[in-house]
Amino acid sequence: AGAIVTIGEILVEIMAVEKGNGFLAPQPLIGPFASGAPAIFIDQVGRLGHPAAIVSAVGDDDFGRLNLARLREDGVDVSAVAIHPGAATGSAFVRYRPDGARDFVFNIRDSASGRIDLDSEALAVLAQAGHLHFTGSSLGIPAILGIAERAVDIVKSRGGTVSFDPNVRKELLGDPGFRRALEAVMAATDILLPSGDELHLIAGVEDEAEAVRSLLARGVAEIVLKRGAGGASHFDRTGRTDAPGFVVEEIDPTGAGDCFGATYLVCRRQGMPVAEALRYANAAGARTVTVKGPMEGTSGFAVLDAFIATTKGAGA
Ligand code: ATP
Repeated sequence: AGAIVTIGEILVEIMAVEKGNGFLAPQPLIGPFASGAPAIFIDQVGRLGHPAAIVSAVGDDDFGRLNLARLREDGVDVSAVAIHPGAATGSAFVRYRPDGARDFVFNIRDSASGRIDLDSEALAVLAQAGHLHFTGSSLGIPAILGIAERAVDIVKSRGGTVSFDPNVRKELLGDPGFRRALEAVMAATDILLPSGDELHLIAGVEDEAEAVRSLLARGVAEIVLKRGAGGASHFDRTGRTDAPGFVVEEIDPTGAGDCFGATYLVCRRQGMPVAEALRYANAAGARTVTVKGPMEGTSGFAVLDAFIATTKGAGA
């Protein structure tokens, strides 16, 4: 059936130990942790034992090596991760505010991720792809925006499918290049994985049912709406399936959506019915939020089965 492939940024995350406001004074930090929404996504695909590859770029530095080692260890093909000696691997500093909101300092656009390209290794990986996944955050990087359409065409022309996790930052919506890439990806999207108000943002319609109808009419085959602790809802032409979330203590929400999406896609590609795929996806998302660090909560099927057996919720 072919590998699941994603294109996007690889970076490290460095987290403030204590909650507070911003980075205006020296403070204890932990990290670097392997990160980047597409990297977290593909790591989870690899952990589940499904063929997985990422098209990306890192610097010739420890932040890049740390990520490559981690992805390889979890079964991800990193042959299409270019190493650019002249650029640094990106980074994100994160601090949780007392109210749960997050402050970020990003260095991504000017990092090696800004040089992601469809070189011969990337084309070789895309030629093996059965499915291509995009994360909205990546479309904010001009280099990726410039190759998204071509990558979609390569995969679609071979009969592959496309998924999209909008993860859209509102300030990007005014950028014409971003809008063009967003529309190209949306036009090709078979499975849309929005969360919160992204459904409305993408559909341009406030009412949930109306937004769903409009997107299905535009050719999206499946919409999987992530509802945080509330679980998820699945919509397609045949109707709607709701799946409640698992009850956990949230330590660090970063990565939940990416692990959810990866797990849903792998389960469906392995032939599971929607309800069962949602249960595994909710379990993967919930487990992620109990672990500190963006990629530290990715999990294989054995871990998910144990989690489902011992965790309340999900209608069990
Ligand atoms: P993020 O951007 O933080 O990675 P997201 O906004 O894309 O995530 P969410 O709806 O926050 O998506 O989380 C994805 C999935 O993870 C949810 O559908 C749910 O299954 C699980 N999840 C997230 N937060 C919790 C929580 N507090 N308790 C239980 N499950 C959760």
